[in-house]
Amino acid sequence: MSDILQLPNPATFEQIGEVLRTHQSFVLLSHVRPDGDAIGSQLALGYSLLAMGKSVLLINEDGLPENLAFLPGSGRIESPPAEPLEVEVAIALDTAAKLRLGERALHAASKAAIWLNIDHHISNPHYGDFNLIDPTSPATGQILYDLITRLELPLPPETRDAIYVAVSTDTGSFQYPSTTARTYEMAADLIRRGVDVGAINSKTYDELPYRRLELMRALLGTLERTSDGLVAYWELHDATRLELGLLPEDSEGLIDVIRGIRGVQLAVFFEELPDGMIRASMRSKDRRLNVCQIAMEFGGGGHALAAGLRMPGPLAAAKAQVLAAIARRVADVKSEDFSTADGHR
Ligand code: 5GP
Ligand code: MN
Repeated sequence: MSDILQLPNPATFEQIGEVLRTHQSFVLLSHVRPDGDAIGSQLALGYSLLAMGKSVLLINEDGLPENLAFLPGSGRIESPPAEPLEVEVAIALDTAAKLRLGERALHAASKAAIWLNIDHHISNPHYGDFNLIDPTSPATGQILYDLITRLELPLPPETRDAIYVAVSTDTGSFQYPSTTARTYEMAADLIRRGVDVGAINSKTYDELPYRRLELMRALLGTLERTSDGLVAYWELHDATRLELGLLPEDSEGLIDVIRGIRGVQLAVFFEELPDGMIRASMRSKDRRLNVCQIAMEFGGGGHALAAGLRMPGPLAAAKAQVLAAIARRVADVKSEDFSTADGHR
């Protein structure tokens, strides 16, 4: 992985600041099926730029998911317009590969002369003109917090709340090993700046639509694990999606339920997408079982402990291939003791 870290052209905060200050019109983008870090990052930087008097458009291929509509200012997130936007700068946020911005969003941003790429995925191939990639950061939201505070850019309430939610959702409520003292220091600073912790967490985590629990029931009916108990997986059929009227964000985070099983080191969520493609979402508890590397075998990516991929169906065949790749990796490390402190970072 070290060669990925050494890709050319890493930008400094000052260079990014220079681009932000010397241009007037921006379109901010994030990945398809946006999560809290994607939308939160768009709002965080977007409202900081708006407070600087810039012209800012916030575009996402899939629009604003219902579960994030509580974020102040989120009404500004729009679906891509049909015609390319007249903007100077496009900023891709939290997006490991340029194509993950989505076809219509890319078309909308196609007239931008300068591309900024701000992300925390180790697999990011530095596709921008300026790339601020920090794989040690638990969320793109935390990179933006560093950028905004270091450059002394405006930090209005919309930015403050968006950063908090971006980092909270990408760290499983400040739990994952990527969470550091700096993350808590950032959270403390945001709370001092006025984040209402009880209210924002309640809006983030205690407002589940009932169909999400119906989805969980359906998934539990498909739950399996390997005979050694190290790998657990479940699957979502397209028919279930239709039957329950599911939205893409309804499955967000559910994989943590099976990741949380004692003895399970790797969890996989297989999903039949409406277009016939299969999505596999993976979580690992052990850095030696690097799910980013496994995902990259199939053209996907992500982080060592959380990664995903898309591949052609049918589900059974895709599942067999991914489970075989996982089994190869498990066999490689099986002789070692999974409970060593090293593996748990
Ligand atoms: P999730 O499983 O939550 O959708 O994604 C976990 C991580 O893997 C995220 O950081 C996400 O960006 C990355 N990821 C998920 N799906 C894909 C994919 O199809 N391609 C790439 N390159 N990364 C993905
Ligand atoms: Mn993220």
